[in-house]
Amino acid sequence: MNPSDYPDSSASAGAERRPTVMKFGGTSVQDAAAFARVAAIVRRQRPQRPVVVVSAMAGMTDALLAAIKLALEADTPTALDWLESHFGRYSEVAEQLAGGAAYGDFVRFLYAARESLTRAFDTMRRYPGTIPPLRDEVVAYGERLSATLMAAILVNDGLPGRAMDARACIVTDDVYGRARPRWEDTVARTRQTLQAALAEDVIPTLGGFIGATLDGATTTLGRGGSDYSATLIGAALQAREVQIWTDVAGIYSADPRLAPNARRLESLAYGEATDLALYGAKVLHPRTIEPVERLRIPVSIRNSYAPEDGYSVITPDSGAPPGAILAVTHRAGMAAVHVRPSGAWRAAAALDDLARTLNAHGVIVEHLAASRMGLAATVEDSEGVAAACRDLRGAGEVQVATQRALLCVVGNFGDEATELHPTVSEALADFRVTPLLPHPSPCSRLFLMAEADAPAAVRQLHARLVENLA
Ligand code: ADP
Ligand code: ASP
Ligand code: MG
Repeated sequence: MNPSDYPDSSASAGAERRPTVMKFGGTSVQDAAAFARVAAIVRRQRPQRPVVVVSAMAGMTDALLAAIKLALEADTPTALDWLESHFGRYSEVAEQLAGGAAYGDFVRFLYAARESLTRAFDTMRRYPGTIPPLRDEVVAYGERLSATLMAAILVNDGLPGRAMDARACIVTDDVYGRARPRWEDTVARTRQTLQAALAEDVIPTLGGFIGATLDGATTTLGRGGSDYSATLIGAALQAREVQIWTDVAGIYSADPRLAPNARRLESLAYGEATDLALYGAKVLHPRTIEPVERLRIPVSIRNSYAPEDGYSVITPDSGAPPGAILAVTHRAGMAAVHVRPSGAWRAAAALDDLARTLNAHGVIVEHLAASRMGLAATVEDSEGVAAACRDLRGAGEVQVATQRALLCVVGNFGDEATELHPTVSEALADFRVTPLLPHPSPCSRLFLMAEADAPAAVRQLHARLVENLA
């Protein structure tokens, strides 16, 4: 079943009854001032029936991952000591902004978190087979603490916040660290968990990034996954809009940290936003658009530090005219694998073997190509690449180039998957790039290049194609 096919129990409810999912990322909840801003934004949107999804406080997910490493390499008390200053950041916010019973709930939750983290670290040390599931269990505490704290702050502000467990909503497979949602179960459980609360006008607060298997084991959706949680919940509830609140006022024509002249794209199509996210624009998790696309739910990107600064909205069609170039992005951490098979070989079978071997080593493949001369794969660089290449040696001569980046130009290129855009090629003349063709997306063109040169290439393409400088 896909998102447009599930039984629509809310279709009869008027649009004004449909909730708005509001997701706040790590920097939007990095300290007391940031949490206070979030509470004010939620208050203003109260009539839009908010469902609040929050990330861990900035730096907390990394801190939890580092604690796991410490627990395994040193011991449990060292790992917990390391986390104390991070728990302190949450407590400090609670002391400043939460009060009464809600403050008590948060303090009890933090106490229970310490106990359960201690048990998890001990178990991981003793039984290494438990590390993958327990890693997700541990890492989920960043988001769970944020959701509990957010509810306490809303309640102290006189709003009907209630922390609810995202793991009771988002049902996934058991690929820990990168779990895939089970759509039908997620729809059923999200509605079951949230609809009664929404009917009472409660503002549910949920941790992003986390889910659970059907058996109840905690899972996570991959780094940056809170955006994806927000659209999964938004689609399950048939939200009127999903708002992604972050530290920039929209999706820009390039990462504003890299290209200071980048400008906000007021409107993007689902495909354009997805290609940007897939090829490096950190502002959105690559799967964010998937759940809402068929339901045509708009997704907006807004700045929690400056809500009045404007925003981008992602809808089925951006209205970009044919040939328009909208944005440039790059994704580092790629590798290129080339195989020149020895002896007699058939391209299709060899390509199949290559894909299977890479997959067996957990290597994520972005692009595959074959010709009479050999095979080429563009992959995410990871530990598995070297191992896969060792296995491939029996098939022929194998070459690997690491420290590559994918450069992506987003625009309206039409349906001709094999054609390069002449202006794009000209603007890249100073760089050594390999076009990745065919690339069957009407919204983007991809090039492989040295990682070190990619930021300069992004700036140059942006200046020439978006700013239209000579
Ligand atoms: P959050 O913690 O809210 O999820 P992220 O750090 O994941 O926020 O994403 C926001 C960041 O994405 C911005 O600070 C910006 O530097 C980066 N970014 C990369 N590419 C783009 C782009 N094209 N437009 C806007 N922001 C971008
Ligand atoms: N806290 C998680 C991360 O840092 C998820 C998210 O922020 O979206 O990756
Ligand atoms: Mg993010």
